[in-house]
Amino acid sequence: MHNNLVNHFSNHIAIIGAGISGLALACILKKAQIPVVVFEKSKQVSDYGAGISLSPNGMRVLKELDLFNEVVSVSANPNQASFFFGNKKINSFKVDVVTASRQILYKSLYEKYKLLNGEILFDHELSDVDCINLKVSFTNNKEYKIAHIAACDGIKSLCRQKIEPKSKPIYSGYSVWRAVVNKNQKETKTFLGPNHHIVTYPISNSQISFVAAIRTSKQYKESWRSLGTFNELKEDLIKSNTDFYSFINDDTPLFKWGVYIRPFVKNLKYKNLTLLGDAAHPIVPFLGQGGCLALEDAYVFGNLLIKYDSDFNKAQNAYELLRKKRIMTVMNLSFRQGYLNHISNPVLVFLRNLVMKYLPSLAMRSIKTKVWNYDPSVDIRNFD
Ligand SMILES: Cc1cc2nc3c(=O)[nH]c(=O)nc-3n(C[C@H](O)[C@H](O)[C@H](O)COP(=O)(O)OP(=O)(O)OC[C@H]3O[C@@H](n4cnc5c(N)ncnc54)[C@H](O)[C@@H]3O)c2cc1C
Repeated sequence: MHNNLVNHFSNHIAIIGAGISGLALACILKKAQIPVVVFEKSKQVSDYGAGISLSPNGMRVLKELDLFNEVVSVSANPNQASFFFGNKKINSFKVDVVTASRQILYKSLYEKYKLLNGEILFDHELSDVDCINLKVSFTNNKEYKIAHIAACDGIKSLCRQKIEPKSKPIYSGYSVWRAVVNKNQKETKTFLGPNHHIVTYPISNSQISFVAAIRTSKQYKESWRSLGTFNELKEDLIKSNTDFYSFINDDTPLFKWGVYIRPFVKNLKYKNLTLLGDAAHPIVPFLGQGGCLALEDAYVFGNLLIKYDSDFNKAQNAYELLRKKRIMTVMNLSFRQGYLNHISNPVLVFLRNLVMKYLPSLAMRSIKTKVWNYDPSVDIRNFD
């Protein structure tokens, strides 16, 4: 046996990654007194300066975690979303979303886990998983025996690579700019233009999140930390109305990233390893569902483990059956939204805007019924 091998987590579920899915799952398991430990590569939970929008399906999970009021109290609640084309408003829709800074969400989940006396090991970057001997190894040379691996290690998941080594990132055709700017704004605004769209939403009383997506063959790096310049942004938004981003200037910290997808994994489980969140299903960001799906995954897997008294096999089989269908639905709708937001053909633009203006309930129907209204507790209750 290797010298560094530590045995005291051998009956624990090892969660790799203290992100949205990892911390949410950790809270659920710890509360149910199921042995759990979290391993995170960084020195602290994520501090990306960006916004996140949480739709009712994600908020439902936060309510179950008793975190809803806490997150809402420090977030914005824009109850209207307005859409623009050219200089004109197309329409406004009532929405039921909470928009927050990502740090708030990560911090709330982390604080909750700490309150439950949850164990987390920072500075632990996974380097290998052994699903047969149930062992996880880290770049700091530590190795631990564990009972199960919950792979919550995000979009560049090493666990996923181990299961599907041939699965490579594929450029989605979209690149995205983002910034957080000091500005007061009450509603969500979306500016649709040919081959691009810009979304701004409040994340507090004094700050907004700016996101500009462009359809382009120019492939930016897949990184949330790559900086860009105002001039580069202007070049990418050459066909846009500059009024839509008049609050940005040379001094605004701007980040740009290429949106990459991965082929859908055949299985969300492999032996004693289960994939959750972006590790399982990276998704294009056009419906703001990556974080919400990560919360749903954690809720479903955690509650199936409780329902089946930590029978991993039963919980994994149920999880895979329940989640695959749901994930495909949301992924397809996110792609469709990406297409709709970037139409450049003038006839199709006219038709899209016509539907949004005169048939708003049709425009919002599948998002509301198929994405926002989903309640994972019903799925779990009805699953036999
Ligand atoms: C700018 C931006 C805006 C977004 N906006 C929205 C939005 O409005 N609404 C929405 O629902 N979603 C949004 N998303 C998507 C959402 O943030 C992700 O889908 C979500 O964070 C996925 O959660 P996760 O738990 O799978 O991964 P993450 O939250 O990314 O967590 C992964 C964790 O794993 C850790 N990790 C990685 N590798 C290792 C390793 N080898 N060893 C140990 N730890 C490791 C990472 O450090 C990280 O802490 C946005 C994403 C971005 C980039």
